[in-house]
Amino acid sequence: MSEIVDEIFELFRTRGRSRYDGERISQTEHALQSADLAVRAGAADHLVVAALLHDIGHLLHGLDEEIVDRGVDGRHENVGERVLADWFGPEISEPVRLHVAAKRYLCAVEPDYYDQLSEASRRSLELQGGPMSPGEAIAFERNPHSIDAVRLRRWDDAAKIEGLEVPDLESYRERIEAQRTRTPIVR
Ligand code: FE
Repeated sequence: MSEIVDEIFELFRTRGRSRYDGERISQTEHALQSADLAVRAGAADHLVVAALLHDIGHLLHGLDEEIVDRGVDGRHENVGERVLADWFGPEISEPVRLHVAAKRYLCAVEPDYYDQLSEASRRSLELQGGPMSPGEAIAFERNPHSIDAVRLRRWDDAAKIEGLEVPDLESYRERIEAQRTRTPIVR
């Protein structure tokens, strides 16, 4: 059972040092800060795990951090959803899949939201389709995982602080194992 966790942690160790999406922190720091914000907000364990692993697609698809500068959207949310759906239920994989849509949604419904996005986040927004149309926003709200996706999104946006001390990967091991509901199937 812990093999999955070892695999995930290995991925952070080997690829997590890369810069997070044009920000000043690494992928691993960003993941740990996201998860810690979820814990502090009193989120359920599935959402803490989703926060920790929401950018696993960045680590998996191996595309470098300059990708946004080159005008390419790596679709990391879909890569992440596919791998997480092999191990966990939709309560984890769906908020991860929707965390980019949640940014587009918040830009549409909260006038101040766009202004507080980082420069890198605004740049990627354009590649991701820009703010949702009113019709898209209504459809998004109907998704049962949209509330979790929006909560995850806000932690994601805040998890960009240089040098912040937060609990390490190992502290999430038991939580990840307890959330694992599936045996990977070969696709
Ligand atoms: Fe993120």
